[in-house]
Amino acid sequence: MIQDLNKQECCELLKRVGCGRLACASKNQPYVVPIYFAYEPNRLFGFSTVGQKIVWMRENPRVCVEADEVIGQDNWTSVLVFGRYEELPDSPKYAALRLNAHSLLEKRTLWWRPAIASSETRGQRFGPFPVFYCIHIVEVTGHRSSPDQQKVSQRILQRGENRATSGLIRPERTKGLSRKLSRLSLISGPEKSQITD
Ligand SMILES: Cc1cc2nc3c(=O)[nH]c(=O)nc-3n(C[C@H](O)[C@H](O)[C@H](O)COP(=O)(O)OP(=O)(O)OC[C@H]3O[C@@H](n4cnc5c(N)ncnc54)[C@H](O)[C@@H]3O)c2cc1C
Repeated sequence: MIQDLNKQECCELLKRVGCGRLACASKNQPYVVPIYFAYEPNRLFGFSTVGQKIVWMRENPRVCVEADEVIGQDNWTSVLVFGRYEELPDSPKYAALRLNAHSLLEKRTLWWRPAIASSETRGQRFGPFPVFYCIHIVEVTGHRSSPDQQKVSQRILQRGENRATSGLIRPERTKGLSRKLSRLSLISGPEKSQITD
């Protein structure tokens, strides 16, 4: 069963995981890369060196970030941020924000390493220019798939089938049970299509 997360739950996940996938687009071409980020209310901070994603976000600041916690196939939480990219240049106007970004990002050990490593792999195409940036959160949505509801529905269905096969109830009664579970949305996706009634 999939439930919506409220805004607070979404923000708690963003704060907890600090890692996600950043999507940007240029000339109708999407581009997604994994990144680390630091959350604070209403924004995410990131650190990079100039490469494709920075060039593209400068051109088109509309971005999307996905972050998740996956425990199992039926046990996961996923959050989407729709946001706006803003660069934090090394100028007096942005000094306080850069300091704030830096102090949040440095809570992760070697927080600067992926950005610097990327500048090394791309050679001097863009130069090793470090970039602090921020994603202003315009909208956030979250989904959680919980295993308990799935297990409950499977147990109920299994019990019905066992009773039917042992002759305690007529097979047509289990069909009704399947329909009922299906209506309650306790069974969805491939499981739903396996129901034969
Ligand atoms: C867990 C994790 C966390 C990361 N955190 C950060 C971070 O905080 N900051 C940061 O700057 N980078 C981080 N990276 C690296 C990041 O995913 C990018 O590889 C890197 O930032 C370079 O992106 P770019 O757009 O500048 O690409 P460029 O260096 O311009 O790359 C050019 C081309 O290389 C390919 N490419 C680039 N990145 C990847 C990739 N990840 N996988 C496959 N192909 C790729 C693409 O085809 C792209 O067109 C992280 C990576 C991982 C796995």
